[in-house]
This record gives sequence, C-alpha cells and structure tokens, in this order.
Amino acid sequence: MPQQLTRETLIAKDLADPLRRFRDQFVIPEGLIYLDGNSLGMLPRACVERVQQVVEHEWGETLISSWNDHGWIELPLRAGAKIAPLIGAQADEVVVCDSTSINLFKVLASALTMRPGRRVIVTNKENFPTDVYIAEGLARLLGNGCELRFATPDTIDAALADDVAAVSFSHVDYKSARIEDMAGITARVQRAGALAIWDLSHSAGAIPVDLNVAQADFAVGCGYKYLNGGPGAPAFIFAARRHHDAMRQPLSGWLGHATPFAFGSHYEPASGIARMITGTPPVVSMSLLETAVAIITEAGIERLREKSKAMTSLLIDLVEQQCAGSGLDLASPRDAERRGSHVIFAHPEGYAIVQALKARGVVGDFRAPHFVRLGIAPIYLSYAELWDAVARLKTVMDAREWNQSRFRVRAAVT
Ligand SMILES: *Cc1c(COP(=O)(O)O)cnc(C)c1O
Repeated sequence: MPQQLTRETLIAKDLADPLRRFRDQFVIPEGLIYLDGNSLGMLPRACVERVQQVVEHEWGETLISSWNDHGWIELPLRAGAKIAPLIGAQADEVVVCDSTSINLFKVLASALTMRPGRRVIVTNKENFPTDVYIAEGLARLLGNGCELRFATPDTIDAALADDVAAVSFSHVDYKSARIEDMAGITARVQRAGALAIWDLSHSAGAIPVDLNVAQADFAVGCGYKYLNGGPGAPAFIFAARRHHDAMRQPLSGWLGHATPFAFGSHYEPASGIARMITGTPPVVSMSLLETAVAIITEAGIERLREKSKAMTSLLIDLVEQQCAGSGLDLASPRDAERRGSHVIFAHPEGYAIVQALKARGVVGDFRAPHFVRLGIAPIYLSYAELWDAVARLKTVMDAREWNQSRFRVRAAVT
C-alpha cells in the first residue's frame, strides 16, 4: 500500500507525466471525470477539425471525385496500416471495415473454410455477448457444418479435439480485465490443428499487442473504445499474411473484389487483406478514426501502457484505502501485468452505485450482474482526477447515496 498518498502528490505526478500534453488534445467537459473511455473514447480536438474538413470540403465541394482526389477509396487499408503497429501486425495485415460483430462473422466463417472436415468453433461462454451470439448465428446458418463448444482460456486443452476449426477468445476480458496469454494459447490451439482468433476490443490503443510474435491467425477489434474513433466508428480485422491466399470470407461484396470497377458478373477475391472488405466504407466515421489513431501512435503505446498500469494500480489502492468496509470487492487481477486498462469491483448494489456516482460527475459503467467498471484511458486522464473520483465514490458509499429509488431505474443502455 503506498505511503502518504495525497492529492498534492498526485498533482506532482501529473506534472511529471510524459503524456501530460495529450490531455489538452481532447474535449473534456468541465467537472466531468470520465472513467468510461473503454466503452466510448473521448473526442479528440483534431477530429472536430477533421469532420469539418471531410464534410464541408471533401463531401460538400469535391463530391464524388473525393474517392480519388482525397483517397477515400484507400481509407480502409490506410487506416488499417495505422492501427497495425499498435497491435504487432504488418501494415498489409490490417483493414478497417464494418463493426466488430460483422468482422468476427467474416473471420469465423473464413476459419471454418480453411479447416475443411473440422466443424467446431470454441469460444468462451463468458466472452462479450456479441462474440457468442455471432458464433451461434453462424452455427445456425451452417447447420451440420458448424457447432459451438464452450471453454475458457483455462480449460482450452480439454476442448481441443481434431474436430476444432477455430478458437475465439478476447485478449482482455471485458468484465474482469484479465489479460490472456495470447502466445501460449495460440500455440496450443495451433498444435491441435485449429486457428486462433483474438478479439482486441479492450486491448487496441491501451495495451501493446504482439499478434505476430504470438503468431495469431486472425483478430478483430473496436475503433470507438481506446482508439477514440467516435460513436459507431468502424472496426478492424487482422489476418496473418500467411493466410491471405487461402482465406475466403462469405460477405463477398464488390469492394473486396479483385477488380471492383470492372463490374464483372462473378466474385473474385482481391489479393491480400482487402478481400476482407465488403462494401463502401463509412468515409466520415473512418476519417475520424484515422485521425484519432494518429494521436495514440504519437503518444506511444508503450508509454500509454506504463501509465495505464500505474493508474489502475492507483485506483485500486485509493478505493481500498478510502472506501474500506464499503463492500466494494476487487474483481480484477491484482497483478498489473495481468490486468488490462479497466478495473471492476463487485458490489450487490453495483447498478445503483454507478448511477449515484454519475450524479456526482464521475462516469463509469455497470456490467451485469453486479460489477462497477471503471475504465482508464491513459491518454487523457490525470492522476489527480482519480483522487477526486474516489473521493466522490467515498461520499456515495459513506452516505449510502446509491440507496435512492432514482438510482435504481434501469436505462436502456447500461
Ligand atoms: C465492445 C466489444 C464488441 C463490440 O462489438 P460491436 O460490433 O462494435 O457492437 C465486441 N466484442 C468485444 C469483446 C467488445 O468488448
């Protein structure tokens, strides 16, 4: 437990923070402490300028010529190449397109066709729901051609038989924040003849990922979380270069065609990662993601990880000191090396606590059944804010502010 933690020591820590200048590059509402950058990243100021440029100039004035003149047509590959170094991939192994859910569908289906004779997809029942639902939908579509099997990263060996085509796990668990051993699990999956698929939604932009060191086969991930691409920002797909010729995805739309503008009457996949593209990119949204990723790159993913570890550790220390006896139990790994960039605490009144905290200007989120989840986006948060957030949490807990009926009404989005 750290000695003499005070608000002043944390202000000093902020002054010495090598990433300090990045905070000013984001729009930060006055008085708001935002511990939810793992669900929707904050707005980079550069995106405010970029949206104006892309809407008013590129769309408004240059119109359809912008596909060539402003490189709109290359945007999916260009944005993918910018994300690549953040996740340990080569520039030609990543493309930005569609949503994480849809990309997972494409990747799972590709994996099945690359392992003929094998029909099982292994995933984690506790995975983010869409990851399970999408696999269920694919299995239903393929009937006898596909079956789901549930396992966790800890029980994977028992699930690996010669009927397994692919294993799909999250790198960082969306609830506990536990980081999985990507290289170790990938090796075991591949030894059993299957392909390893990783969901990087809670990793990309906060934690350096080494897809190629781990020899991962495929990965998907979100653009609107730590990458700060904005609400509904498109997602990305990674496919290892060694699979580019063999992979075939089922949403074989025209912009993933070898020669889209030949307008031929049969589908022929583009070479390389481009065959993962389906249709026309959402240019406005993707332009913002491209702009936002550049800020993460400039900050440096290794430095972001160092700050994230320091901050999640500080948050745990502060909650355990200030809110001792309040019933908030750490449910994330205590070892920072095994923990992603958010922290969850279990409490039977988790939902109401999150609402009461929000009424005091601290935004976190609730995850069923009883978790208070506090996300740390290291690029724009300050250490002093964490002090203030926990001081407000202490008030909520000490005064039992959560015990008011207005904090117990469930909204559509939690
Ligand atoms: C956030 C998240 C998603 C979101 O998928 P969308 O298609 O963008 O709704 C998927 N998987 C995981 C693991 C996530 O954390």
